[in-house]
Amino acid sequence: MARSASEIRETFLRFFEAKEHRIVSSSPLVPQGDPTLLFTNAGMVQFKNTFLGLETRDYVRATTSQKCLRVSGKHNDLENVGRTTHHHTFFEMLGNFSFGDYFKREAIEWGWELTTEVLGIDPDRLVITIFREDDEADQLWREGIGLPAEKVIRLDEDENFWSMGDTGPCGPCSEIHFDFGVNAACKSAVCDPSCDCGRWGEIWNLVFMQFERDASGKQTPLPKPSIDTGAGLGRVARVIQGVPTTFDTDLFRGIMNRIQEISEVKRGEDREHDVSMNVIADHARALVFLIGDGVLPGNEGRGYVLRRLLRRAARHGVLLGVERPFLFQVADAVIDEMSGAFPELRDRSAYIRDRIQREEERFLQTLSNGLSLLEEDIAALEARGDKVLPGNSVFKLYDTFGFPVDLTADILRSRGLELDQDGFEAEMSVQRERARAKWKGSGDERVDAVYGQLASELRTVFQGHEGLTGESTIRVLLIDGESRKVARSGDEVEVVVDETPFYAESGGQVGDRGALRSADGEIEITDTQRPSGQLVVHRGVVRKGEIRVDSQVELRVDAGARAATVRNHSGTHLLHAALRKVLGPQAMQKGSLVAPDRLRFDFTHDAPLSDEEIEAIEDAVNEWIETNAAAAVREMSYTEAIESGAIAIFEEKYADRVRVVQFGDFSTELCGGTHAAATGEIGLLKILSESGIASGVRRIEALTGIAALKYLRNQERTLREISELLRVPTGKLPARVEKLLEDRRNGEREIERLRSSQRGQTSKGLTDNAREVAGVRVVTSKVEGVGATELRSMVDDLRGQLASGIVLLAAETDGRVSLALGVTKDLTDRYRAGDLIREVAGIVGGKGGGKPSFAQASGSDPGKLDAAFERLDALIAGS
Ligand SMILES: [Zn+2]
Ligand SMILES: [Zn+2]
Repeated sequence: MARSASEIRETFLRFFEAKEHRIVSSSPLVPQGDPTLLFTNAGMVQFKNTFLGLETRDYVRATTSQKCLRVSGKHNDLENVGRTTHHHTFFEMLGNFSFGDYFKREAIEWGWELTTEVLGIDPDRLVITIFREDDEADQLWREGIGLPAEKVIRLDEDENFWSMGDTGPCGPCSEIHFDFGVNAACKSAVCDPSCDCGRWGEIWNLVFMQFERDASGKQTPLPKPSIDTGAGLGRVARVIQGVPTTFDTDLFRGIMNRIQEISEVKRGEDREHDVSMNVIADHARALVFLIGDGVLPGNEGRGYVLRRLLRRAARHGVLLGVERPFLFQVADAVIDEMSGAFPELRDRSAYIRDRIQREEERFLQTLSNGLSLLEEDIAALEARGDKVLPGNSVFKLYDTFGFPVDLTADILRSRGLELDQDGFEAEMSVQRERARAKWKGSGDERVDAVYGQLASELRTVFQGHEGLTGESTIRVLLIDGESRKVARSGDEVEVVVDETPFYAESGGQVGDRGALRSADGEIEITDTQRPSGQLVVHRGVVRKGEIRVDSQVELRVDAGARAATVRNHSGTHLLHAALRKVLGPQAMQKGSLVAPDRLRFDFTHDAPLSDEEIEAIEDAVNEWIETNAAAAVREMSYTEAIESGAIAIFEEKYADRVRVVQFGDFSTELCGGTHAAATGEIGLLKILSESGIASGVRRIEALTGIAALKYLRNQERTLREISELLRVPTGKLPARVEKLLEDRRNGEREIERLRSSQRGQTSKGLTDNAREVAGVRVVTSKVEGVGATELRSMVDDLRGQLASGIVLLAAETDGRVSLALGVTKDLTDRYRAGDLIREVAGIVGGKGGGKPSFAQASGSDPGKLDAAFERLDALIAGS
């Protein structure tokens, strides 16, 4: 009989496999192709489109052990984790699914058989809940299974009714609960499974997708109802192993041991210490799987969740007395424990460990920064004689500096102070609102409405792997999102046909362009998209005649553009392989763009690439191109593909049957895109640039084929032009340019020397000609060929030479005049440069100002300069 968690997992999957279910691998924690969801939070997530009828699979029954992450929800506030017997952020959910195949009877019978007979859980300790109005389930449990009436408990909608969203599939559910025994402290009048005193442990939830709910809330029975079930692996293991909490199951044994070793704290001696260990163990699992699935710490969305989890865990480490990075060591224990079921963790272990350690170091730094900030706040608080730290200060510490609220509260408490919890909550709810607004689907109502409707009715078959032409029938014509029967010359249209050789934008590869012809007209296709499911939409303009719905059309992809795209796509695969070869397997793809004229590849890596690394990457790619390895394209199950070593890309949507594209023994990737028949077609791959686009993410831009050749030829032409200009062979250019720069520097130095000596002579001449006005030595002069800056240095020089006096210099450029006026220090109590220049500048039609010893101005009337000089004399004489 199954005892260990891995035996339970295996037993569950094999049980349903024997009942004709396909064992499907867990999808990543980052939902594939679903922007509305932060994380995969249930087994049904990867089957959502199948349940909605937007996608068909070659099986109608499936079973999975799905990695899930829940960081918020009705019963799962993060704060609960570690304090209760069974709440987790990361967990595995076992499930069986029927897509319009079997329904309630089988789901209930198999659920009971597996729980009691196969897993051996004592039926006397089990209680069933059903939805209040679900008489069918009641009958199946009582008459079918033979349970007494008191064991089948009817509960309300909030406990036993499930829905996918506000609209869409929904239905009653039925839960199997384990009775851990009466809790003496329970205060409920009736202690049934809706009571949260700890007596009851839900182990399995069976959802009967029975209705479709419309926007008005009306429920219509589905023609083919479905089944979706979920049993938390940890919860089942807790019951079977007879341990008090999920944290005591064998899933956590190795992890808990590691935490005890590191902290030198024993489990079971102090309640708060146990809570901290639980939090660390839970969060460490989440960190390992999140990073393993390509999430990086950040300030938004998924990255922010990862960061918060790590910080909470590190904070609980501090509570256990561990004040150095240690989670990366706990991560090792998680990987040891889980890599049997999730072998991908083994390959990425070094990367996961390293990422965690860096983030921990960073956080410990934050913690010490936050502490000093909090000290300042406290000092200000005490100075005001206040006792409550305002909510916005708490929030700022928390949000901007990542300083945990519970730590703020602890520190305040130790000083006899408190924090404004309500104020903080208010700031938090504003923040949550912002976060929610960010994750609200595609946001394009047309995509949701028009395409959603079309997608449920139409499928487009893609034939573009076989050839670039095809024939088909027009099913839908849209102009401005509205369905039309006919489109005429000049109309911008969207076209849906039954079968198409046009590749729709996906996996970074841009949509095909080309033409679509009927007997009566022609459309130039500029883009091809797949807005949802298997619906392909061609976008373009009617160029000739008219096009009607239901007419036969010939489809022709622009072969030149496709061939160029294909070279670039195969190029990215080789580039990906070369990056992993040169930099290591942690260089994971984060995104790509494959267009006819260029390619772009984003990947995880911490440092800028050196010239040597870039060369090694280019060499590897071009050596593989030289081998002219043929593309081997095969279809297989996702599991087979991953087991054969194919690289899958996170955040990419994969069906259960996947396409694997292999070149030689160097590149194997899951990919639905179009490719070169052999690597030789790529011709040449040249990297143009490498840059950082986000923390830990780099971008390479490159060219292939003739485009790469043209680029190199342009570079060569530029070089040749320079070499002709300088009259030296290209090989000697660097030395020649260095020599030129040197000459230029020497020339500039010489010019500056000459200028300054010339300025000296001019100044000398001017001081010699100084006049006396009311006992003050005055110099006024127009100088040639100097700018405002130089004018200023000349005024400074003259002030020095005069020792005592007033200097006004003017220079004329392009019909404007610049003035600079200096007054020596001994005279500034009588004459202020700023005041004098304001008067003088007025004469030449300008404005100016400055300090008592120096001022500048400009004017538009150089002809009045003499009058301006006279005005200065008058001003000096007059005061
Ligand atoms: Zn109770
Ligand atoms: Zn690809």
